[in-house]
Amino acid sequence: MYIDWQLSDVCNFKCTYCNLASMGGVEGWPTLEQAKGLVDNILSHSDHDYRTYNLLGGEPTLWKHFGELCTYIHNEDESHVIQVLTNGSRTKRWWQTYAPTMDKIIISHHVATTKDRSPEHTIMVAETCHPNSNVSIQILMDIDNFDECATHFNVMLARLPGIRITPKKGETNLGSGEWMPYSPEQLAWFDDALVRAKANEQRISPIHKAIGNKPIDRRFFASDGVTEWHTSNKDLIINDANHFEGWNCNIGLDMIAVKPSGQIRPSSSCFKNVTLGNYRTSSTINWPKAPFVCNQASCFCGADIEVEKHAPK
Ligand code: SF4
Ligand code: SF4
Repeated sequence: MYIDWQLSDVCNFKCTYCNLASMGGVEGWPTLEQAKGLVDNILSHSDHDYRTYNLLGGEPTLWKHFGELCTYIHNEDESHVIQVLTNGSRTKRWWQTYAPTMDKIIISHHVATTKDRSPEHTIMVAETCHPNSNVSIQILMDIDNFDECATHFNVMLARLPGIRITPKKGETNLGSGEWMPYSPEQLAWFDDALVRAKANEQRISPIHKAIGNKPIDRRFFASDGVTEWHTSNKDLIINDANHFEGWNCNIGLDMIAVKPSGQIRPSSSCFKNVTLGNYRTSSTINWPKAPFVCNQASCFCGADIEVEKHAPK
């Protein structure tokens, strides 16, 4: 099961391309008891092989109880994957204390808002966490600071062998679906950088450590009754194969999306009018009993795409 849990809309960075849903600061934080209650509710309901808790914000590590929540999940759910999406801004000591509970840490590096406009803090966090967690870095290639972003990318590649470092195309405004207007030279840089990033992942690293048998990388499964697909969401989008209108989709069964207000929905980006509950105001969740029939022409959200789907018989 995949729990896409946006804990809050509070962030300590103010990136120019961000949106209010991620940094507006209107919703504040849940209480620790509310958050633990949601975990308990999920555990009493889910009989999945494992559960991935994708914890994000805003900046989730700012929450004073964030480390306690990770520890709680770690202790209470025997089959958990804790995945944290962070800007990495907390101190070395904080990461030393709490990173050991996290299976996967994705650091989103924002050049213009990171400490001293330098790659050093992010490098320190990656080196601190990598012995225990699967760390990756996504550099948001801000078109207004493109060359500086490219320099940070090069420095990180040289200093962090074996770590996945990805240059990420930015939207003009987060969630708008409209890419920043990169020049042909900049787009060519992306192609070259992705090749170099792949090579870096394959370099032998003294700080790299695999994490047991945990299913860190999710793979998409779909079946039309004849053919089965086991692939990645990126492949599907690139090959224009992300269209499932009329299919039975396991959102709500194998996935929930939790919003900063506490609202629980069956998916991150579709069926937005369907509410399963609100963990900040009630302990009741109306768990769906059957798949949803897709009513969208295309499926774009990475988390949503990876939910199991079957063509109607
Ligand atoms: S770090 Fe992320 S959430 Fe925070 S302002 Fe930047 S883009 Fe928004
Ligand atoms: S758009 Fe929604 S219902 Fe349709 S396939 Fe994607 S996640 Fe499932």
